[in-house]
Amino acid sequence: MKTEDEVKYVEIVYRGIFQKRLAKYIAEGIVYTAREMGKPALSFGRYGDSPERNGVPAKYYVGIGNGIGEEDLIGYSTRVEPDLVDVIVVLDDTLLKGVESWAWQGVQPINLKLKANGTMIVTSTKRMDELVKMVPKKDFEWTFGVIKTEPSFSGLWAFKDDLTMEKVWGAIAKLRPDIIDIDHLVKYVSKKQSSDKRISAVKEAFSSVDYRTIRKGEGIDFIYNPPRLLTWQEMLEGTVVPAVPRGKRNEQFKRGTTKFERPTVDFDTCIKCKLCWIYCPDECFDETPDGYYDIAYDYCVGCGICAEVCPVKDCIVMVDESMFTDYRRPYEMWKENKVKYKEWLKEVRNARKERVYVPGLGR
Ligand code: SF4
Ligand code: SF4
Repeated sequence: MKTEDEVKYVEIVYRGIFQKRLAKYIAEGIVYTAREMGKPALSFGRYGDSPERNGVPAKYYVGIGNGIGEEDLIGYSTRVEPDLVDVIVVLDDTLLKGVESWAWQGVQPINLKLKANGTMIVTSTKRMDELVKMVPKKDFEWTFGVIKTEPSFSGLWAFKDDLTMEKVWGAIAKLRPDIIDIDHLVKYVSKKQSSDKRISAVKEAFSSVDYRTIRKGEGIDFIYNPPRLLTWQEMLEGTVVPAVPRGKRNEQFKRGTTKFERPTVDFDTCIKCKLCWIYCPDECFDETPDGYYDIAYDYCVGCGICAEVCPVKDCIVMVDESMFTDYRRPYEMWKENKVKYKEWLKEVRNARKERVYVPGLGR
């Protein structure tokens, strides 16, 4: 038997800090339920995912022994992250666009590590067909499950007990009873915290999770190229790496998929004060020939600082990232058709306000 069959892994991809405790609790429940089933199990955070910046993609893992003992399981799991995983749980649908975990090189497809015939489960209010358009294609079949719920964001370090973990457990039990089965899961939940609403949430997700098989080649072409690291022969003497020339950006340092919100600019009210350009920690703003400030969305991490420092009310407003499938620059759109841009601005600013929670002047 190969090593990869001796341990089944669950990867939980979450937004750093906001969903950290949620991810940890989900992992804990899977471990305890697997142990109820008589299997060795453990969980660990991806090495390098701490410290986490607000919203940065990060990961927890659960390893479950399949015919091996505790010691072998610990031995196999002593690594930064597993090479392949059986189940991926995605706690925010905007992560489907790609993830760049702390200390990684470049943006990677959300389903990079999925095993053939594996399972990916996402929490989202979007329809299955909308979500499939965000997911990179694989050269094998796999199962995609959607738990219909608003992604659980609760703010800095706070845990919002909105039954998301029970829903995730229930969905895993339905789609992957080889990982945790419903009887042992209900037993675990009843033992841990006897509460009808928790058991109902598990059972509800078990019976209502939307899922289907994703065919080989179904999905999108991933837009990011993995960065090519220099070999030692290519490096300058003393392993010096040439700096990025002034006025240019590092092509290998795009972190646009880190965000769950993006800033929108009302150029009609902009007073050209430059504060957004000065304060953006990721240098996303470019000055235009007529003195406005345009945004490179594929470098923007969605921190909201520009919206906070902008002195004009509603000039910069953060909006839900899951509405967008491209990184088209706002200034280009405004120049092309100002009336249409204004309508577009109104539309995106009025959509799904419940996901937006970072305070700032522009809200
Ligand atoms: S949200 Fe604003 S300040 Fe933050 S990275 Fe994006 S453009 Fe820069
Ligand atoms: S901070 Fe606001 S008003 Fe100032 S340049 Fe930027 S968008 Fe315009």
